[in-house]
Amino acid sequence: MKIKAAVARAPDQPFEIITCEIGEPGPGEVLVRVKACGICHTDLAVKHQHIPVPLPKVLGHEGAGIIERVGIGVVELAEGDAVLMSFGSCGGCLNCQQGAPFYCDDFGTINMFGQRKGGSALRYRGAELSGHFFAQSAFATHVIATTRNVVKIAADLPIEVLAPLGCGIQTGAGAVLNTLAPRAGTSIAVFGTGAVGLAAIMAAKIVGCTTIIAVDIRSERLAAARDVGATHTIDGQSGDVANQIVKITGRGTHFSLDTTGHPAAVEASVSCLRQRGCAVQVAAPPRGTRYPVEASVIVGRGLTIRGVVEGDAVPNVFIPQLIDLFRSGLLPIDRLTTFFPFDEINRAIDEMETGAVIKPVLVME
Ligand SMILES: [Zn+2]
Ligand SMILES: [Zn+2]
Repeated sequence: MKIKAAVARAPDQPFEIITCEIGEPGPGEVLVRVKACGICHTDLAVKHQHIPVPLPKVLGHEGAGIIERVGIGVVELAEGDAVLMSFGSCGGCLNCQQGAPFYCDDFGTINMFGQRKGGSALRYRGAELSGHFFAQSAFATHVIATTRNVVKIAADLPIEVLAPLGCGIQTGAGAVLNTLAPRAGTSIAVFGTGAVGLAAIMAAKIVGCTTIIAVDIRSERLAAARDVGATHTIDGQSGDVANQIVKITGRGTHFSLDTTGHPAAVEASVSCLRQRGCAVQVAAPPRGTRYPVEASVIVGRGLTIRGVVEGDAVPNVFIPQLIDLFRSGLLPIDRLTTFFPFDEINRAIDEMETGAVIKPVLVME
């Protein structure tokens, strides 16, 4: 069938919306009519080739929509189901079998490279078109996803608001709720207050962190951080950030989370910790990036430094929890989203890159 899709052709070219063909869902797959898709920094990192995945390619990995057809052997999902899409995983490797699909042996090939059994289901002008980014490629009106990366949701939910749960929100909230799991009354510093950082701040408030320090270089983002639960804010360009955090907390924070991937921010996110603190990094900076951290601080304070992919979240377990939190008003992600018609994908990306909007969501219909 014919669909519309936005193709990334080269780092310096805008996305081009084309009409192309999509095939039928195979065993274990579903065809989803996309209603909305959030834009995440990983989409832009690939388009800009900071992550070297071959272009041209259809990107988009925070898709949400309605199942139109199911492939052979799919019994848990049916035509008409509302679904959110998240990252793909193989299901067979040791980490998948141990409940950690976010560290699937094939995470890169399935998600970044979009490898699908039988090749891409997309064709353009008679030739195969690369897709299946994060087992979806949801900058499109239709996608083929797998039962492993599709989460069924209730039909009465605002699906376009929830689309970013599949990656950005899951990453920030999961790094706090799943990885750090702070006790009530502890402190955390969050570096970078885009959608990921703001979701982390919401999560820190949910679990009862009593000191939540947001660091960013944009004053309007720091205001947004206060709006969703930050108790203190620091301008990232105002001098020694780690020292300011130590002054606020007395001995440093119990936890820190860096969403920026900037070496200076990561260094501060480690130096701001108190004894036995834990720093987590979730960003995907350009290949070759190195983080300068003070060795004596790591050993002397007994620190833990951890990287986290997709918030250590099993989508079918964690996304329903996030939806319950959203329904109860504790995870107000509707405050982060700005909607754009699919045709205006390039304007949405411009406004994301200038910081005018926090989480752009494309609406396909
Ligand atoms: Zn696996
Ligand atoms: Zn993402």
